[in-house]
Amino acid sequence: MTTKTPITVAYGDGIGPEIMSACLKIMLAAGAQLEIETIEVGEQVYLRGNTSGIEPSAWESLRRTRVFFKSPVTTPLGGKGLKSLNVTIRKALGLYANVRPCVSYSPAIETKHPLMNVVIVRENEEDLYAGIEHRQTNEVYQTLKLMTYPGSEKIIRYAFEYARINKRKKVTCFTKDNIMKMTDGMFHQIFDKVAAEYPSLETNHMIIDIGTARLADTPELFDVIVVPNLYGDIISDVAAQLTGSVGLAPSLNIGTDFAMFEAIHGSAPDIAGKGIANPSGLLRAGIGLLLHIGQTQVAEVIHNAWRRTIEEGIHTPDIYNTLRSTRKVGTEEFADAVIERLGQKPEKLPVISYAHQEEAITLPPVVVPKQTKQLVGVDVFVHWDDAGRDPNVLGRLLSERCNSDGLDLVMITNRGQKVYPDGFGETFCADHWRCRFLRGDGAPIEHGQIIALLGRFQAAGLDFIKTENLYTFDGKPGFSLGQGQ
Ligand code: NAD
Repeated sequence: MTTKTPITVAYGDGIGPEIMSACLKIMLAAGAQLEIETIEVGEQVYLRGNTSGIEPSAWESLRRTRVFFKSPVTTPLGGKGLKSLNVTIRKALGLYANVRPCVSYSPAIETKHPLMNVVIVRENEEDLYAGIEHRQTNEVYQTLKLMTYPGSEKIIRYAFEYARINKRKKVTCFTKDNIMKMTDGMFHQIFDKVAAEYPSLETNHMIIDIGTARLADTPELFDVIVVPNLYGDIISDVAAQLTGSVGLAPSLNIGTDFAMFEAIHGSAPDIAGKGIANPSGLLRAGIGLLLHIGQTQVAEVIHNAWRRTIEEGIHTPDIYNTLRSTRKVGTEEFADAVIERLGQKPEKLPVISYAHQEEAITLPPVVVPKQTKQLVGVDVFVHWDDAGRDPNVLGRLLSERCNSDGLDLVMITNRGQKVYPDGFGETFCADHWRCRFLRGDGAPIEHGQIIALLGRFQAAGLDFIKTENLYTFDGKPGFSLGQGQ
């Protein structure tokens, strides 16, 4: 008898329980050998006062099984001190790669893009999802966008290895490095470096805005797309919807020791409890899970039965179309239709074969180039709402009271725009000012000079809200210039 593989299952919120029941019913009917440990995560856990949405006992199960099959959960909105469960799990378990295949099933499912077959490889742990946010002044709120060299290289290498193993032809990178030259610029540079190691793959980089526009217009031009976290979140919903419904695509969250399988969509509160949700995205995640634990035969049987079901026109309302569909079904009826077709193969859509077990993706350790770092200045951010917010008044005050020790004010920006010296009177100024101090001769400074500078800010009655040290790395500035500088 085949031994059962332990997995952790969470039924989630909204449509979660309906689609999870449907998927597990199909998987078990197909012969999946699973020892299921159920955990509770999401809304009810939050409501019991647990701000992370997950109980300690659930972590124990995840550490034991290392494989998580998860329904969507309702993420509470900001302002209540609650953290996103998805982000917590992805980061806690080191699930750095988020793979989201978005495939058209034409002619079975109505889509404007019948040739689309795009895999989005989304960085899963960094970027704006660090959740480090602060209100700094009366008017200004801040989120930190943190991207690391190792995190970026890992996801980019993963995308290239994924493309190589899955015999894909092209890898495209989307960033916004024309604006975010340090964070997205690093991601782009690493992409170019890694791309050079894969000469048989076609590669290109696009700015995220035009890239998304092209993806929406001509998705058949794309193959594998590798992106930082936030862009990946957005474009994968766009891409899944282009294939016919956001309810079709899976989200495979892969780490070195753990893996989590879910649908890309959320808990869809608008249709929860109605029994009409499409379980396909979660089912395709379940197929990914079965492949991950080596139950390839079962995965293949389910995938082909699912294809057969949709090509026969048995559709949930989100993909129902009077020209292509033959029967409008609810979640349970759809699951039963897939079960009835276990063992059958599609006739119009390509048959899936997992006969050749895929090579697992293993990545070499990232070697971060070591560079000489020197402290050369500081940006002091102040909350200042005096003198009609005239930047020249603040500039004169700082120059007179705070310049010292060769560390002088060189610029003030407001929302990143240079307003002193030589600003435009027309620039709108918030109550939040970034004041840059550098040594005129470009020589290194000491931390003590910054502390002394802050003492002068305090003596001048200025409310400094944070500082950002300015460093050079091998002589190159590790900081951006002000807009208009
Ligand atoms: P959503 O994906 O839940 O829903 C967007 C739209 O798509 C809705 O109209 C919904 O009815 C439809 N839809 C989604 N899945 C469907 C399916 N399987 N079948 C048919 N139609 C489907 O996005 P939202 O409304 O922005 O978010 C709802 C909640 O889900 C929020 O609390 C959000 O934070 C959370 N969320 C969770 C996850 C996750 O757990 N991984 C992911 C995204 C959003």
